[in-house]
Amino acid sequence: MTTPAYDQLRAHARETGVLNAVEALLGWDQETYMPSAGAASRAEQSSALAGIIHERRTDPKLGDLIAACEADSSLMGDEASPEARNVREFRRAYDKKTKLPTSLVAELARVGSQAQEAWKAARAADDFKAFEPWLVKMMDLTRQKAECYGVPAGGELYDALVDDYEPGAKAAEIEAVFTPLGERLSGLVRELLEQGTAPSDAPLTTKIDATRQHAFGMKVIEALGFDTKAGRLDVTTHPFCSGLAPGDTRLTTRYRDEKFTDALYGTMHECGHGLYEQGLPKGEHFGEPLGDSISLGIHESQSRMWENFVGRSREFWEWALPHAHSMLGSGLEKFGVDDMYRATNTVERSYIRVEADEATYNLHVMLRFGLERSLLRGDLAVKDLPGVWNERFEQLLGVPVPDNRRGCLQDVHWSFGLIGYFPTYTLGNLYAAQFWEKINQDIPDLSAQMREGEFAALLSWLREQIHSHGQRFRAGELCERITGKPLSADPLMRHLEGKLRPVYGL
Ligand code: ZN
Repeated sequence: MTTPAYDQLRAHARETGVLNAVEALLGWDQETYMPSAGAASRAEQSSALAGIIHERRTDPKLGDLIAACEADSSLMGDEASPEARNVREFRRAYDKKTKLPTSLVAELARVGSQAQEAWKAARAADDFKAFEPWLVKMMDLTRQKAECYGVPAGGELYDALVDDYEPGAKAAEIEAVFTPLGERLSGLVRELLEQGTAPSDAPLTTKIDATRQHAFGMKVIEALGFDTKAGRLDVTTHPFCSGLAPGDTRLTTRYRDEKFTDALYGTMHECGHGLYEQGLPKGEHFGEPLGDSISLGIHESQSRMWENFVGRSREFWEWALPHAHSMLGSGLEKFGVDDMYRATNTVERSYIRVEADEATYNLHVMLRFGLERSLLRGDLAVKDLPGVWNERFEQLLGVPVPDNRRGCLQDVHWSFGLIGYFPTYTLGNLYAAQFWEKINQDIPDLSAQMREGEFAALLSWLREQIHSHGQRFRAGELCERITGKPLSADPLMRHLEGKLRPVYGL
């Protein structure tokens, strides 16, 4: 179905998409190959382009085109049609962009960059007091932003913010899944660490140089199905994936000589994001909602699935270990599949979220979700944050927080107003687990295939069920469509309990 207004809307979006890709390419280059002396010029280029893109996204003509499409019953008659969903998401993005006054956007950017600098210094000095006034300011500005967006029907202020990352998600619904997950996970971690036997991490202490690690990482991502003629893998300080344009998806990773699995799982994680980007229907719908990913949670479900459900499985190591032996060497030969499988599935009570294991990671996220929601509501004052953080951390993870550097000062997110972002990490794990159970019903011999390094059927399933739809479905709707059930904590708990208890000899 098409109309002149709809065609114009799509053409406008495609051009904005092209500019956006150029902006992302500048960003990728800045993190990878740009000489450091080019930083000032690059800042000027990026900011000029960002200005043009912002103007296009808030252009009243774009608003008129969306309104013309909405008024056309031939397009909107069937509200589940791809065209109607495309227009709905165009509307959502346009409203979000135009609801914020320019002065507030500028203030958020200005105070956010100062607050980020203040956060860096405060973290280094373990000095919460120095960061406190900045966090107060950022919470205030973020609250104003949420108020401009408006509280969704039947929801709360937090929902307006979470919607930026997870369209349509509600704090109360997230809480309803997180609460049972938190209780069961805390119990599982206690059981593993107090009654179980921790596996040896000896296989992961072998020193392996970056060149060998890179070759092995490439071997793995090619086997998973990443198209290297339509993508690259480079090295950066902070790994990321950037799905620039049709035929061009960039992955980055980082190598340390010790613990080669950090880079391996980092690479598999970004590859999972990259496979999603490569599977989106960008040829036909580049720049449109129908050609774009659904949400951060669904994006993360893809990266976590390849990293944890594939990469930390016994089947994966049955296939990968002979290759690791021949390509990585360095004494790794003395370790077998069971050693690798167990060593890559250890659980630890650690303080830093980004270093946490597959199980405890979610506890770190839940802590932040509860606290940022309370901060936004005003139930929790910024000055009381460290005390409450430490108290809840100990309840969840069973160890006291030694200092704020390893406590409430560890993450950058709040310093520039990213409220509502954290829950998407755990939503990703939950969606991955729920999809994984359905995948195993639909592909009953998946285990046997993975043992052979055969991932094509898995990737086709993901392409068909998730990637090819772009934003036609919201995350919750997609989950019900695929699995027949709303999101629940049960599949992730079944996955973690089923794997970790035996690893810990329980
Ligand atoms: Zn990710």
